Amino acid sequence: MIQNSKIGTLEVVTGSMYSGKSEELIRRLRRAEYAKQKIVAFKHAIDNRYGENGVFSHENNSFRAYPVSDVSQMEEIMEKNVDAEVIGIDEVQFFGKKVVDFCKKYVEYGKRVIVAGLDMSFRAEPYEPVPELMSIADQVDKLHAICMVCGKPAYASQRLINGEPAYYDDPLVMVGANENYEARCRRHHIVRY
Ligand code: ADP
Repeated sequence: MIQNSKIGTLEVVTGSMYSGKSEELIRRLRRAEYAKQKIVAFKHAIDNRYGENGVFSHENNSFRAYPVSDVSQMEEIMEKNVDAEVIGIDEVQFFGKKVVDFCKKYVEYGKRVIVAGLDMSFRAEPYEPVPELMSIADQVDKLHAICMVCGKPAYASQRLINGEPAYYDDPLVMVGANENYEARCRRHHIVRY
């Protein structure tokens, strides 16, 4: 374990889709930038809904970020940015279990690590690695979108295939299907069996 005089922290921003996780991550990174801190931000390369080189919110708010496919690519970038003080990771659920050790390591090095990601799958079940990150975090903020059916606070992400609630066992990639997601409250979140 590396001894460091600076104490790092882990912040987790979580919630369903459209709950404002990316906006909140961008807000925190911007504030760190105003404080003239050195920031390295990552996003997963498969998430290029708006642009390649940034974290983007559904409102098209953005902050520059390295698109990476896995944790080893993050490590390569960190080796060139050893003086970074703040590390941001968006869509952290895409990085699997290895990202937990990555976060622990840089917190140990004294960095402020801020991650944003989904805590539950479309089945409304815990979706690793976010639950594990939540349990070891210094700060957890669970945000809520608005239910697209009734306007109450949303609970989970509703997966829709050709406009109908997905089945529990539907494969994650369905070629040719028209797939989309909506934020829904407990009453209106439906998983078909
Ligand atoms: P997340 O990263 O959690 O998916 P974003 O930060 O990308 O969320 O986007 C949040 C924005 O999405 C909100 O500020 C709002 O403008 C928009 N939005 C779209 N649908 C909804 C919804 N059902 N509830 C709340 N915000 C929504």
